[in-house]
This record gives sequence, C-alpha cells and structure tokens, in this order.
Amino acid sequence: MRIVTTLSEARQCLDALPRPQGLVPTMGYLHEGHLSLVRRARDQNAVAAATIFVNPTQFGPHEDLTTYPRDMPRDLALLEAEGVQVVFTPSVEEMYPPQGETVVSVGALSRKLEGAARPGHFDGVATVVTKLFHVMAPDRAYFGQKDAQQTVVIKRMVRDLRFPVEIVVCPTVRESDGLALSSRNAYLDTEERKAALVLSRALTRAQMLHAKGERTAERIRLEMLSVLQDEPLGEVDYVSVADPDSLDEQTCSGDGSLVSLAVRIGRTRLIDNIVLGCDTASHR
Ligand code: AMP
Repeated sequence: MRIVTTLSEARQCLDALPRPQGLVPTMGYLHEGHLSLVRRARDQNAVAAATIFVNPTQFGPHEDLTTYPRDMPRDLALLEAEGVQVVFTPSVEEMYPPQGETVVSVGALSRKLEGAARPGHFDGVATVVTKLFHVMAPDRAYFGQKDAQQTVVIKRMVRDLRFPVEIVVCPTVRESDGLALSSRNAYLDTEERKAALVLSRALTRAQMLHAKGERTAERIRLEMLSVLQDEPLGEVDYVSVADPDSLDEQTCSGDGSLVSLAVRIGRTRLIDNIVLGCDTASHR
C-alpha cells in the first residue's frame, strides 16, 4: 500500500496503476461503515484508493473540528488489511493553498436539511470532493447512504460539472442494536450510547407506519417526534420526510421517500435516515 501526502504524488502514483480505479473519501477514524465502502471499491475496480482528510471547511465555527477523533496508524493498518493500494493523507495546506478563494456550491440542495442546520457544510464537502476528483480522477467513487443528503449533493455536482465518475452509494452499516456506525459515536458515554438508539427507533416507527399504509408525511413526522421526545437526553434538530431527489418536504409520502433526522444526544449531534419501502433501521 502506498501512502501519499501530496497531490502530485497521488496523481503520479495513480497514473501508473491500472483502471478502473475506485475512490473512497473519508475523514478517518475508520469503522465497518467505511470498510464496507472500501470492500465495494476493491471488488468493483482494479485499484482501490482511499483518502483520509479531516476537511476543515465542512465544519462550522462552533463544531467539533479540533476534537474530531483521529487514529492514523490504526486507519492505515485497516486499509492495508482490506487491500487498498493507495491512501492519500494530505495536510490542510496541501488541499487549501493560501489565499484560496474558490468554493464549489451546489445551490438549493446544499441549503436544506443538514445544510440549513450547518450553513456552509456542503460547500466544504463539494469543494473538497471536487479537488479529490480533479486530482485523483477515479472511475468510481463510493459514498454511504448514512449521509444521504451528501450523496444527493455530490451526484448533482457530478452531473452539473460533468465529472467522468460514477457515484456508488452503499447501504448504512449498523451496530447489532440498530445504531448507525459513525466516527462521532466515539463521543458517547454509556448512558448516551443507550439514548442514541432513539434515532433508529424513530426511523423504525416511520417504516412501520409506512408498511401499514400511512401516506400522510406529517403524521409520520409527528409520530417520529413523539418517539424522540420520550428520550430525555435527546434534543431534536430536525425530522424530515422528503423527496429523495429534490429533498423538498413531502405532503404525501410513499415508497422511496427519504426519512431523515438529526438529534443531539448530549453534546453529540447524530444523523440517520431510511428510505421508505426499502431500508430498515435495524441491523442488516
Ligand atoms: P466520513 O469519514 O464520516 O466522512 O465518512 C466517509 C464515508 O463513509 C461517507 O461516504 C459516509 O457516508 C460513509 N459512512 C459513514 N458511516 C457509514 C455507515 N454507518 N455505513 C455506511 N457508510 C458510512
């Protein structure tokens, strides 16, 4: 496995390897969710590459950039064990030259849901992913359904900017009790870890209502809120039943509706989602 830290090394190294090449962008502190993307990239391509970069521009001023969990040696060992050929671990200066002015912004999609709660977040995501695609030129790039809106924003960006890359979305990996894996789960203490199950409980309620024929989106939102309000450690940021492409809130829900939520458990902000008629929020 080659570990490269500069854009020119990354380019050189990938240029010498066969295609197709699959890229898995991450912020590190890897878990089985990340590794599921890596395995898919490896299975579908001649070469699997990954990036580990805690991207400062996607964090708000009062968010957890400085405390974001990191463990580079462990991450590199995991990637090597999965057969990744190239890992790109740039510095902030490498990705953001001084006096940089250019930002990639994906319009209205970036301002809904997570974008409304975290202004500027998706500009940071779109900008860094553009740089990675530009330099690493993957044939396929792998993203998790866990960050549903991110996949929608990136797909739109790829379409709009005509990036010659296929975006592959992989299912959410969960703990056996239903909690979606996330690097931020490391922040949770024992009590909070139990409380965090309220997210998958609320999503399961939505899926159950849908299965019983409920099609009034507002009723689904209200039922989810009532599940969430039963958890004293939880503070709801938003609950959404939206069109999976436009991310507009729906009046009538149906198969394919994206049900998503963001909840603070203590100081940790967690997100999760399911697609009605498709996913379950329990362990798969
Ligand atoms: P992050 O390191 O949080 O930026 O995540 C890197 C990639 O892993 C993103 O495409 C995430 O959507 C994906 N990912 C994170 N958690 C999970 C999970 N539990 N299941 C599947 N993919 C995930």
